[in-house]
Amino acid sequence: MDIFYRCRCVYSYQLKNYAGRQSGQTTSAGARCKLIIKYGVKFMSIKVITCTTCPVGCEMEVEHEGKVLIKVTGHTCRRGEKYAENEIVNPRRTLTSTVILKNAVVKLLPVKTSKPIEKDKLFEGMNIINKIKINAPVKMGDVLYENFTESGINLVAGRDAEQLIINN
Ligand code: SF4
Repeated sequence: MDIFYRCRCVYSYQLKNYAGRQSGQTTSAGARCKLIIKYGVKFMSIKVITCTTCPVGCEMEVEHEGKVLIKVTGHTCRRGEKYAENEIVNPRRTLTSTVILKNAVVKLLPVKTSKPIEKDKLFEGMNIINKIKINAPVKMGDVLYENFTESGINLVAGRDAEQLIINN
């Protein structure tokens, strides 16, 4: 990710990947004066993200310092701003996958978390899912794993699966 530095003067002049320059140096990035070096270089990261809240899919530029949101541009409604804030402060995703299904015609059952879980927990979640084996019959929405990744959120079945009846 690129790191950006913004001068605090009225020009808000922005430099990309300014790290490592010595105080007093001029910059090849075309700073208008040396004040940017003396006073104002306030670093922050800029991320370009796409809002997935609705089908419009606004592309937003999000300035942040760590988990502190500084500024959002490019959104066309307040929900976009909220989405950007969540992406910086506490990004979450709905985890979808499949588990092994026994006693059914199909061998895999689609599963998902009932609500989005922390993005940092996705890998841990996949390790759990890879070990789950379920016996048919199953109804869509059945809870297969409570308190998944200790998130307070359940892993649920994504579809019905009838039991396989073998007639001799
Ligand atoms: S910012 Fe608003 S309009 Fe744009 S994608 Fe997000 S919810 Fe939709």
